[in-house]
Amino acid sequence: MGALQDEPLFSPALRQPRSLREAWELKSACAEQAVYVSGGTLLRTQWEAGTAAVPQVLIDLRNIAGMEDVTRDDDYLTIGSLVTLTACRRSGALASAGPAAAEAARQIAAPAVRNLATLGGNIASGYGDILPALLVHDAELAVYDGNLLRVQPVEAWLERRWSGAIPPAELVAGVRLPLDQGSGGSRLAVFRKVGRREAFTASLVTIAVTADWDAAARTLRRVRLAAGGGSGRPQRLAAAEALLEGAELSRSLLGAVYEAVEHGFASYDDPFAGEQYKKKTAGNLIVSELWQTLELKARS
Ligand SMILES: Cc1cc2nc3c(=O)[nH]c(=O)nc-3n(C[C@H](O)[C@H](O)[C@H](O)COP(=O)(O)OP(=O)(O)OC[C@H]3O[C@@H](n4cnc5c(N)ncnc54)[C@H](O)[C@@H]3O)c2cc1C
Repeated sequence: MGALQDEPLFSPALRQPRSLREAWELKSACAEQAVYVSGGTLLRTQWEAGTAAVPQVLIDLRNIAGMEDVTRDDDYLTIGSLVTLTACRRSGALASAGPAAAEAARQIAAPAVRNLATLGGNIASGYGDILPALLVHDAELAVYDGNLLRVQPVEAWLERRWSGAIPPAELVAGVRLPLDQGSGGSRLAVFRKVGRREAFTASLVTIAVTADWDAAARTLRRVRLAAGGGSGRPQRLAAAEALLEGAELSRSLLGAVYEAVEHGFASYDDPFAGEQYKKKTAGNLIVSELWQTLELKARS
């Protein structure tokens, strides 16, 4: 029995480059007719939803050597773009160097998706749930521009990504996280996600926090706050960070932090939640996480 369809099915041509240079040349030659694919999990949802057309050419990045590696030196943990979210979730090295990022990987999609989905694909989307966590860990991206691998802070890359300044052929090759962040009891690292149901859900709001806690002085230092969610822009919350940096923690301070997050977080309305709801949710998540964590630490 034949299927009913308006248009004949076609299969995109598949190209499997073995180097970043070869991938970049293919993409540059084919322009918008070709699309990079890593796990293909986000692309598939876009094709199914009709928000992106199936391209003429798929440039499968999975044969490029070195992009599946996780390495560590004295200063950085480096994770290749092709490392899957399942591997991120299981990585002891990431749990130690970037606990908020490991927690974000834990909360993305479901196992079957995470087995295919890659760190690079999550980042390259420009709004993947891991990005707020990478922001608070001061992570940097290694990007390939056809000549060189350049390293830049995630925040700078997001600025380029959201202003349309990234050339279409540029590749995300990997992520590196500084190792000087400390992992003892005095270091906070939090990632929280709110979706439309408890688990296996797309995010409406995500928040991430890192800071050093000085219990004696009841102060936070090296404070990083970030928020994102859905297909919104992941962003640092600079005004709220400035309020917390070095100040003695109190209820009134947390009230001011809530207001700074609500005011500073730029989000958007979608069919399930309005921008105002997302702003309030981000403020509540950040303040409740700070309060709970610090109360527990103060007692221990
Ligand atoms: C059921 C389901 C649930 C999901 N839930 C979540 C969720 O909770 N949170 C979340 O963040 N995402 C979610 N996703 C989206 C997606 O699975 C993830 O974002 C995933 O990490 C994307 O990785 P990928 O390797 O599959 O990317 P792909 O689909 O292969 O690519 C995504 C985009 O990045 C580009 N790209 C891929 N790799 C590179 C690279 N190295 N350099 C430059 N560009 C590149 C592609 O051209 C494409 O535009 C979900 C998807 C599904 C199907």
